[in-house]
Amino acid sequence: MKAIISHDVDHITVAEHLFRDLIVPKYMLRMHVELASNKITLREYILRWSDLFKNKWQNIDELITFNNINKVPSSFFIAVEKGVGLNYTNDLALLWIRQMLSRDAEMGIHGIAFDNQEDIDAEYKRFKTLSGLNHFGIRMHYVRNMEATYTMLSKAGYTYDSTEHAFKNPYKIGNMWEFPFQIMDGWVIENGKRWQSVNLQKAKETTLHLIDKAHRDNLNYLNIDFHDRYFSHAFKTWLDWYVWVIEYLRSQNIGFVNYAQAVNELNAFQQ
Ligand SMILES: [Zn+2]
Repeated sequence: MKAIISHDVDHITVAEHLFRDLIVPKYMLRMHVELASNKITLREYILRWSDLFKNKWQNIDELITFNNINKVPSSFFIAVEKGVGLNYTNDLALLWIRQMLSRDAEMGIHGIAFDNQEDIDAEYKRFKTLSGLNHFGIRMHYVRNMEATYTMLSKAGYTYDSTEHAFKNPYKIGNMWEFPFQIMDGWVIENGKRWQSVNLQKAKETTLHLIDKAHRDNLNYLNIDFHDRYFSHAFKTWLDWYVWVIEYLRSQNIGFVNYAQAVNELNAFQQ
């Protein structure tokens, strides 16, 4: 089994949300609930205030640096449309697309359109124009999907999608490879709540169970989603969890590949 680690960019700045959605008030509520329930320390609480004033809600560079040191290929999904609490502009996205490409990160779309072909095609074309890339993939924001979503993504021209949550090996839909993912940071650490509801120890135990299940189900790729937003001392449990997962996988001699490398392996195997 190899591991594919990917990152969804849900936020870039704080300002992009002001007067547009309820993300900032929700963030404030969440940090108070987490402090009151002893899930975060005073230090994390203060750092969260500091992030607000710094207007910085992404940790892309920090995460690429960590990944590089640990020989984990960086693979990001960044949005070119707005929706469901995702509100950064194409200008801001482009700035980061250029930065990620200059650091050899793999890029795909964090998708918004999921229920009609026209919007899905438009989003694909917009990203292609902005990034200059010809081959790329997608993961839906909030993994929104309906049955027809996957064939529409395939028709649009995506090389791969990683929206389905399942313990299944990658499979083909037309020319597109679907890479079901098995582990999402928030699902482990929030565990069904809208705030951190477990401690690091519990998060590790849950993760070990999921990795065991991946082994039992004979998965060739363990697909993990970690949001760059949480690669921060303001979210210490999330940060520590990610560092631990990477260390753990390395200790198990599980190698890391990105989607493009996995697609090449799968295509070679099929021939
Ligand atoms: Zn998202």
